[in-house]
Amino acid sequence: MYRNAKNVGYYMIGKGALRQLGDVLAPRRKAVDGPAIFFLDHFFSTQCLAARLPVEQGDHIIYVDTSHEPTTDSVDAYTAEARAFLAGRTPCALLAFGGGSTMDTCKCVGNLLTNPGKAEDYQGWELVKHPAPYKIAVPTLAGTGSETSRTGIICNEARNIKLGMNSDFTMFDQVLLDPELTASVPRNQFFYTGIDTYMHCFESLAGSYRNVVVDSLAEKAIDLCKQVFLSADMMREDNLEKMMIASYLGGMAAGFVGAVHPISAGLSMILHTPHGLANCYALTVVEDIYPEQYREFMTMLERQGIDLPRGLCQDLTDAQYDGLYEASIVHEKPLSNCLGPDFRNILTRENVIARFKRM
Ligand code: ZN
Repeated sequence: MYRNAKNVGYYMIGKGALRQLGDVLAPRRKAVDGPAIFFLDHFFSTQCLAARLPVEQGDHIIYVDTSHEPTTDSVDAYTAEARAFLAGRTPCALLAFGGGSTMDTCKCVGNLLTNPGKAEDYQGWELVKHPAPYKIAVPTLAGTGSETSRTGIICNEARNIKLGMNSDFTMFDQVLLDPELTASVPRNQFFYTGIDTYMHCFESLAGSYRNVVVDSLAEKAIDLCKQVFLSADMMREDNLEKMMIASYLGGMAAGFVGAVHPISAGLSMILHTPHGLANCYALTVVEDIYPEQYREFMTMLERQGIDLPRGLCQDLTDAQYDGLYEASIVHEKPLSNCLGPDFRNILTRENVIARFKRM
């Protein structure tokens, strides 16, 4: 069976593109007689971003707390806030300004505005039945690829699993890429987030579930990541744009990951480690699985002067180590993509816990 693959409807890219957001939004306001809801990373609550956005009277701004990754509970709470504000009206658009956490929150709330039930009902594949409202992504951090991917990833604390709402309806309808927005990101954060694209793409290329379109996108995204992270300064102006494009392509290539993301998911579930940082730790302990990428990554870290303090998983309780193992090994699809159906023979409980202890 072949999959019918969807891409993002429209994209606009260029320095200063944010100034054209009002033009992009205008036809939506005409088409649907309802307000727009702006999802902004809470970091912007003290910045002047909202003043630069085409917010009209009657619209609503939701500040998304990104100090933790989105959870089923946080998504349900933002959905309730949006529902209460809308009071039965249909929004003309939902817009997201932030990194993966903010964009994923917007995507998942969108699905829940047109589908009954709670966030956890839609964690999985093809569970969303009705199209979401029109959604626009304006990434202010590049690397997760959320702007182009068909998933919105949320942690389900009760079930100890990090799993996305994978659906064509989860995708954004419009993406606006303005590299100026990433110029003020702290260096460590720029690196941890950007390198996520590199990881998605090499994991996909090293796996067994492949297709030529996805491979081509992944290869180009990796090429751009290397240009950025092996250069003398990853945050040089031309690199900001390259990183945004790498993330955009990487999001489209994000099909099946490998061993890094499951281990990273364990860290996010048990220790609430942010995704990009968790990936970095994960790659440092799978050098036997990805030797070439491990070496390249260490060079990138060093060249950009990024620190990755050791001892992340020292002195945890046995229950926490078990939790780390369980929340990693549960990701059967990516692990068998990477290591084959017998991945449990390699990643035994002892083997996985020993890797965490080395971080
Ligand atoms: Zn990722």
